[in-house]
Amino acid sequence: MSPHLTTCLAIVDGNDGWLLDAGPDLPRHVGRLSERGITLAGILLTHAHIGHYTGLAMLGREAMDVADMPVWAAPRMAAFLQSNGPWDQLVKAGNISLRSVENSVHLSPRLSAVAFPVPHRDEYSETVGIRIAGPSASLLYVPDTDGWDGWETSIEEHLGNVDIAFLDGTFFSGDELPGRDMTAIAHPSVTDSLRRFSALPPAERAKVHFTHLNHTNPLLRGDSDEYMRVVRSGLAIADEGQIVML
Ligand SMILES: [Zn+2]
Ligand SMILES: [Zn+2]
Repeated sequence: MSPHLTTCLAIVDGNDGWLLDAGPDLPRHVGRLSERGITLAGILLTHAHIGHYTGLAMLGREAMDVADMPVWAAPRMAAFLQSNGPWDQLVKAGNISLRSVENSVHLSPRLSAVAFPVPHRDEYSETVGIRIAGPSASLLYVPDTDGWDGWETSIEEHLGNVDIAFLDGTFFSGDELPGRDMTAIAHPSVTDSLRRFSALPPAERAKVHFTHLNHTNPLLRGDSDEYMRVVRSGLAIADEGQIVML
């Protein structure tokens, strides 16, 4: 599996920005924010797979050397960072300040976030989805899940509670990795998601933006038939490093 998955998404309020997950290309995304006069105010993590947290390394003293950067994580994720090198060094040196997302938290006076468990391969940490509410809109972020079944609260109900959603679009279809057993790599394929969400009213479908696209995913090419199929179905594809104001 390639780590080049589109996961870096930023929430912006005024001159402050929060990254959803910390992929290996974190410095580039922080740079894009600063070009717009936006300062990194914190990071929310979903789980301990490499495309989602390894960019934290760049916050340390050999690189950006930030101080007390708030990093929100669920309990197992926080424990993983605190007890494994080199991540523990970020905590001990005070580069990052770990905060729990077990309950609803305030990122700023106008933004609140809450995490909820989603089914996924949980080797080193649990996996969470994140909902962020702002003064004018709210967002759902679920870059990785084994599928849309077996959720405590259905994905449709989650969609009903937000204005925009960034959802697992890792693979477009089940025949995308020739020679590999796709059933061993659990993700809802975009074709399955399109089928499931086709039952929703257009306004609900329009909230869905597929993200976390594997390098094999034809949705990475804006001129592909698959891309057009998603758009014609009334759903969307997230931009690389998309910035959202809530
Ligand atoms: Zn994962
Ligand atoms: Zn992932």
